[in-house]
Amino acid sequence: MMDLLIRGGTVVDPAAGRAYESDVLIKDGRVAAVEKKITARGARVLDAAGKLVTPGLIDMHVHLREPGQEHKETVASGTCAAVRGGFTAVAAMPNTDPAADRPEVIRYVLERAREAGRARVYPVGALTVGSRGKELTEMGALREAGAAAFSDDGRPVAGAHVMRRALEYARMLGVPVISHCEDLSLAAGVMHEGLVSTMLGLKGTPAAAEDVAVARDLILAEMTGGRLHVAHVSTAGAVRLVREAKARGVRVTAEATPHHFTLTDRAVAGFDTNAKVNPPLRADADVAAVREGLADGTIDVIATDHAPHAAHEKEVEFDLAPFGLVGLETAVGLVFTELVAGGVLDVVTAVAKLSTNPARVLGLSRTIEPGAVADLTVIDPEAVWTVNRAELVSKSKNTPFHGFKLKGLPCATIVGGEVHLAARS
Ligand SMILES: [Zn+2]
Ligand SMILES: [Zn+2]
Repeated sequence: MMDLLIRGGTVVDPAAGRAYESDVLIKDGRVAAVEKKITARGARVLDAAGKLVTPGLIDMHVHLREPGQEHKETVASGTCAAVRGGFTAVAAMPNTDPAADRPEVIRYVLERAREAGRARVYPVGALTVGSRGKELTEMGALREAGAAAFSDDGRPVAGAHVMRRALEYARMLGVPVISHCEDLSLAAGVMHEGLVSTMLGLKGTPAAAEDVAVARDLILAEMTGGRLHVAHVSTAGAVRLVREAKARGVRVTAEATPHHFTLTDRAVAGFDTNAKVNPPLRADADVAAVREGLADGTIDVIATDHAPHAAHEKEVEFDLAPFGLVGLETAVGLVFTELVAGGVLDVVTAVAKLSTNPARVLGLSRTIEPGAVADLTVIDPEAVWTVNRAELVSKSKNTPFHGFKLKGLPCATIVGGEVHLAARS
């Protein structure tokens, strides 16, 4: 592999809490030097003037759909979308068909990722057999096969007893439980329950469906000492509960998605099924609370919940459409436009929530210092571009952000020293 010199960029280092101008030299897949001016004869040069050089971005909440629903996405197409979106790694949710509830499925996903040779994939193991919420999987065997965390995402773990045991086992294994917090007895709607659902005549799911489930899981995390990661926080109540739990010393982390800090339930007003997600897009006060949670550190991670669906599945009546949107290729633009330019987060904190924080949750490390694996992302914070669903490389195009003008674009995604250019034409 040829040496690579990233020249003239601004290195953003959340571990050190600072950003500084520096060259970065990569040799044999690792960072060899980080210095003001590096001369490297024969190295390939990547001009990063005016750009940010960050630790490799990690999206810890992605649905790659393989095995079983390859018409929506595959490991190959999903990891292609990931590197185009600036992500050097993704955590793959286990609600495939079959579910990642046995070691063979974990190994299958890892093998597909190796073949694809794009972003790294960290499979998440199913908590319960078939993600049906009844009996726990062989979590130790799944961990050994490569599961980085455990979750039944796509649906909640309905029984508190099952969640208790899951947190206890996960604690022994030193991995987090990622919880999709939703009380199904309250969650019968197709959008957020509020003024907009009433006006549209659509059945709503109240914020309480999320709050109740978050409260239960926090209590169980406190009781067991297990590490809980709350997926896709979308309500003011959930933000408050996580904030209070953290203050008490509960071992909890949380993530928010770009769509939940950008859009409100008004995005559903045109009956656009691409705005039908679970948890649903919420009210103004919830969006404001999620942003506050990001700003004060209650919410550690930004993750996309990339959930591809084919056009024929989404182009149906709102009530019948599946939940989910594709997020990998728009996340960086939305973070820089809504949060950095929007004055919610400084650049270093925003990058931390996309790289070093998810790494910490998953027990990985991401640094830019000599010896570190060369997983890096180069971002142009000034590039202005318009989201065009036809240009997405994900197999599915279900984005509610088509036509959005964004500022901030990943231009190179470097995985183990190998450069994947992410720039749009
Ligand atoms: Zn979920
Ligand atoms: Zn999900």
